[in-house]
Amino acid sequence: MVVLKFGGTSVGSAERLKSLTALVSREDKVVVVLSAMSGVTNLLELIVEKANSFNLEKANLHLQEVEDKFLDTIKDLFSGSFLEKAAEIVGSRIALIEKDISSSKCDQKLILAQGELITTEIFSLYLNSIDVENHLLMATDFMILDENKEPDELKIQECIKPLMSNDFKLFITQGFIASTISGEIDNLKRGGSDYSASLIAAALDAKAIEIWTDIDGFHNNDPRFVDDTKPLEYLSFDEAAELAYFGAKILHPASVIPARNKSIKVWLKNTMEPEAHGTLVSDNYVSPGIKAVAAKDGITTIRIQSGRMLQAHGFLKKVFEVFDKYKTPIDVITTSEVAVSLTIDDKKYLHDIVEDLMTFGRVKVINNCSIVSVVGNHITSSPRAITKTYEAFETVPIHMISFGGSSNNITFVIDTENKIRSLRLLNNKIFQESNYV
Ligand code: ASP
Ligand code: MG
Repeated sequence: MVVLKFGGTSVGSAERLKSLTALVSREDKVVVVLSAMSGVTNLLELIVEKANSFNLEKANLHLQEVEDKFLDTIKDLFSGSFLEKAAEIVGSRIALIEKDISSSKCDQKLILAQGELITTEIFSLYLNSIDVENHLLMATDFMILDENKEPDELKIQECIKPLMSNDFKLFITQGFIASTISGEIDNLKRGGSDYSASLIAAALDAKAIEIWTDIDGFHNNDPRFVDDTKPLEYLSFDEAAELAYFGAKILHPASVIPARNKSIKVWLKNTMEPEAHGTLVSDNYVSPGIKAVAAKDGITTIRIQSGRMLQAHGFLKKVFEVFDKYKTPIDVITTSEVAVSLTIDDKKYLHDIVEDLMTFGRVKVINNCSIVSVVGNHITSSPRAITKTYEAFETVPIHMISFGGSSNNITFVIDTENKIRSLRLLNNKIFQESNYV
């Protein structure tokens, strides 16, 4: 059994959908997890936003865009009675959204789910039309969330196993979509289809997960800002987790965990170049050295300075309790005897957090920061790796450095305006000056 996940651009046109046929036809039993066609979830989010602010006219205009996108696609995929069937699928789901947005309060979760639902229904129908047997599974029947809205892995396993009928070899299902314990439709948050694939693979003890996108795996630096980046052929789970978390957009960070727990290898592959190696993430490749550099924007640094911290215990606990109260995760933390600095990327409760923290001492907020992470194995015990990394930051002002939290990364918090320069400097120092650090 293998689980294959195709992202928005890989299912973004009739031509792309057709080209998946060769990739999903295997010897093994296959579960195919699809995202919505590219751009659709963004449009659906916009429709909800407009409807909730009583701008139905705009909401309907965006809905028309969604409808046109799917109608254009099915025209190129089908003819005759299959085209009629596909038009029915699109029509009825668009009508459902139309009805919902004109009700007093529209159901955001229900509307967001329609992108993945239409995409999978169309793809399954397309395979039927070319006589490729397949079975469509509804993610709401097995992707169950617990009372904290986190995937309930035991429940997922319990629900999906009986659905894997022996009559079929090829199953198609939606990424992203989930169901609450009481049966309401929900989702795994934006970009969650990778997570769906990993959860399904873990539930079914699959032998591999393949995440298909339009780039040839993880790169050793951000190709949007740095020339000559190279794809990485092998990574350990820890390296992949750090890279995904600290900014490499190719993989949803949470998706590494279910795969790691069951030692299921994860391939990152390119639909435009299926023969290319891509990146293989597994237990087997824990080789030392720096592998990659990644950055994450939208970071806010908060510094709390307090005389009360001096030789006192329980201070950090109180600080953490504030973040806990507002359910806001902390990414990076550093402390000195009189101050603690930390970063968050969710600013929703920033104002309340700062107000609460002010009871402990002076609070300073630095907006528009980025986290730049140098990721690899055993890098914090390699003097050469450490020296090269620090040398790269010689001319860059730094707010925080996190070193030694794990042996997998050295993390810098800097102003976003210096991010691109830092990525390039790191590239020169680490991947160009010496071949291997
Ligand atoms: N369609 C969803 C999104 O755009 C889920 C995903 O693509 O992973 O966020
Ligand atoms: Mg994605």
